[in-house]
Amino acid sequence: MANHQSTSKSITNLIEQFSKLPGIGPKSAQRLTYYMVKASKEQAFDLSHAISELKEKILSCSECFNITEQSPCEICSSSSRDTSIICVVEQPIDVIHIERTGVFNGLYHVLNGVISPINGIGPENLKITEFFQRIFSLQIKEVILATNPSMEGEVTSMYINNFLSEKKIKTSVLARGLPIGSDLEYTDDLTLVKALEGRKLLD
Ligand SMILES: [Zn+2]
Repeated sequence: MANHQSTSKSITNLIEQFSKLPGIGPKSAQRLTYYMVKASKEQAFDLSHAISELKEKILSCSECFNITEQSPCEICSSSSRDTSIICVVEQPIDVIHIERTGVFNGLYHVLNGVISPINGIGPENLKITEFFQRIFSLQIKEVILATNPSMEGEVTSMYINNFLSEKKIKTSVLARGLPIGSDLEYTDDLTLVKALEGRKLLD
């Protein structure tokens, strides 16, 4: 009986952990947990090892704040990248999507979020100051603002653009082939290529 109780406790615990993940409701959490109950020991340990390894090895690049296993990251330390152009994105996952298109060879800067007064997030909570410092130390000629086409994304881009236009730095935004509410993350490669290539200069 005691054994049975401890088993159900570990099940409850795993359901609770899965429920904390984005996009996982209580039902999915339960389904995943019972899947893991049936899975081989090997599969379960592989999953838990992959998660631990991720947390041990992954760090934030000291230059662009992308996630990496070495800092500065491969992009920041590469000699074949164009260091006169920089693309500003919200999240590390956006870098992966833009890289996958293969049409951008400049640098990135990951803000780690967007300005969102409702959620109490101001510019000081993002990597914006670090971005402005980089602009000058790298002598950037063009900035591409590639935040998501959401209200917060636009506000964040405008905030950065205000600063850049004072400093007379060429700034562009992705062509609005991207429908409102469609995060870069969910945009297909071709649409993203068009949005990058057709980017519009801001005043
Ligand atoms: Zn980097």
